[in-house]
Amino acid sequence: MTIVLDRGYLKLVEYWGDDSTIIESARMSTNKGFQGWDKDEKLLRYLYTNKHMTPFEMCGATFEIKAPIFVFREWHRHRTQSYNEMSARYTPLPEENYIPTVERLMMNANGTNKQANRIDGAPQMVEGHAVWVREALAEMNHRIHDFYMLLLETGVPKELARLILPINQYSKMRASANLRNWLQFLTLRMDEAAQWEIRQYANVLHDELSIKFPKTLALFDAEANRPSKSKGV
Ligand SMILES: Cc1cc2nc3c(=O)[nH]c(=O)nc-3n(C[C@H](O)[C@H](O)[C@H](O)COP(=O)(O)OP(=O)(O)OC[C@H]3O[C@@H](n4cnc5c(N)ncnc54)[C@H](O)[C@@H]3O)c2cc1C
Repeated sequence: MTIVLDRGYLKLVEYWGDDSTIIESARMSTNKGFQGWDKDEKLLRYLYTNKHMTPFEMCGATFEIKAPIFVFREWHRHRTQSYNEMSARYTPLPEENYIPTVERLMMNANGTNKQANRIDGAPQMVEGHAVWVREALAEMNHRIHDFYMLLLETGVPKELARLILPINQYSKMRASANLRNWLQFLTLRMDEAAQWEIRQYANVLHDELSIKFPKTLALFDAEANRPSKSKGV
């Protein structure tokens, strides 16, 4: 399990197949199977660079993720993954909210940086303000959670009491997908254009996949011109 943001995590639940499964699937027609990496590195590279991607769908992985609801809102746009999320209809949610760090709040403009998208006329965040924002957010979250508990204790059903919870509330889910699909997710969510928070999860997910599918992830990294932690092909 790897900690992500202040209270979140990402952990691999299970995976199926490995780099050689991709070769075996691609060799369906000739029935030659996997012949060892001396011969088959070239074939894997050929499949990847020529976007013959269906063999990459023969592997996959399931992850458990704890993240703020606003991260899940972005994540769930990836419609071709399978999800199961804990339900606040059945369990009251604990007081766990994402509070951005001072550094995140101050993440600098540099002209085009989307992570510093302020409304027109708003000043660049300075450290003193960032510290205040963190305290104010924590205080606001605490008051909302107290009110949530009060609603529950007053007899409001769990499915209605949750209406006041903010989107920095942490939730948990499992997400499952084949390897091709995860690569597409990483392409979109490791990119600098993606919101910084979901990018932190994508980076950890990338590293987990690099352990299980090192040769495929090395090809993925090479395509993105990224220094790879995986053993290259
Ligand atoms: C930086 C960034 C900014 C974004 N900004 C916005 C935004 O402002 N507003 C917003 O609403 N969303 C936004 N999104 C979400 C984005 O539009 C996609 O919904 C999200 O990235 C999921 O991608 P996807 O559709 O490829 O994934 P999936 O839903 O997993 O689909 C995978 C692939 O399956 C195919 N597919 C799936 N469903 C269909 C379909 N119905 N018809 C045809 N082909 C289909 C497509 O080839 C698709 O690429 C943003 C995403 C990123 C990364």
